[in-house]
Amino acid sequence: MRAAIYQGGGRPLAIETVADPRPAPDQVIIEVAHAGICGSDLHVTEHGYIPPGVILGHEFAGTIVAAGAGVGADWQVGARVTALPVQACRECDACEAGLPALCRTGRFTGMTLEYPGAYAEYVAARGSMLQRLPTGVSFTDGAMVEPLAVAHHAVSLAALRPGESVLVIGAGPIGAGVTLFARLAGAAQVIVSEPAARRREIARELGATAVVDPVQEDLAARCAALCGGPPPVVIECVGNPGLLQQALELAAIRGRVVVAGVCFGEDRIRPIVGLMKEVSVQFCQCYTEADFAAVITAIARGAARPAPMHSQSIGLASLPGSFEALRTNPGDCKVLIDPKQP
Ligand SMILES: [Zn+2]
Ligand SMILES: [Zn+2]
Repeated sequence: MRAAIYQGGGRPLAIETVADPRPAPDQVIIEVAHAGICGSDLHVTEHGYIPPGVILGHEFAGTIVAAGAGVGADWQVGARVTALPVQACRECDACEAGLPALCRTGRFTGMTLEYPGAYAEYVAARGSMLQRLPTGVSFTDGAMVEPLAVAHHAVSLAALRPGESVLVIGAGPIGAGVTLFARLAGAAQVIVSEPAARRREIARELGATAVVDPVQEDLAARCAALCGGPPPVVIECVGNPGLLQQALELAAIRGRVVVAGVCFGEDRIRPIVGLMKEVSVQFCQCYTEADFAAVITAIARGAARPAPMHSQSIGLASLPGSFEALRTNPGDCKVLIDPKQP
């Protein structure tokens, strides 16, 4: 099959022909219909967190074309699916607590040589991690279920009460999804802070009640005007240094800050700011299987319409160039790979 192979830091991905994956007894092989390019893919390749040879891609949807002997009758060839890209050990404390995405091994599809990802024509997934896509859910929406599940998880962790207001920092794919699910959870105001104009528009299309350009406008003043005071919930969806401090500053007395943005480096906060208001800070990593299922149900029912997040689809041939271009210009929102495109 054709696949995009990581060549090491500073070098573009290369499209190569590699052996088709064969299913282990507990795996299926999925013909990839769409796979998403994720900000963390850009990040791990830039900083050399993964070895050369890795096939990236942990957001995908497609059709089962082969199933291992141990997978069971539920997952037949021809089934339309997505999957949690989680390769949990099933033995550690996190796995025993039913939180496979927090597994101590930290193994994900598309992040190691052992579990190649979906920047390819085919990808292997564990039978136990599969999620069925009903007929009403397109493959483009299906490939966005993974980032939407992160967003759904962040909103669940915020324990939003209907009628509360939420400030969302950032309107990339996670912030856009958080906006969508915060509205579905009954938030009165969902204010989105985002410097890129096109991303602010997307946030509006997904249900933001107000959008703010934090570079040009006074975010705290806008929040106060819109919510009648500081927002009780702030969800940080960017992961750049300084934004956790901003979230602490903007949150209300006893406010809740959910950190969904992924910051690999060190970041400074002034704890006194949170202390004086008794702010709670909740970090958010990935999702549970319930988040995946809830996202798929919401799309199938028409309650969630994530289509505005999908910026464009590209073929494998243009992937290496587009991938490098995304480093300097993160694009409108979610770029999907369609391996069938020339
Ligand atoms: Zn991702
Ligand atoms: Zn584990």
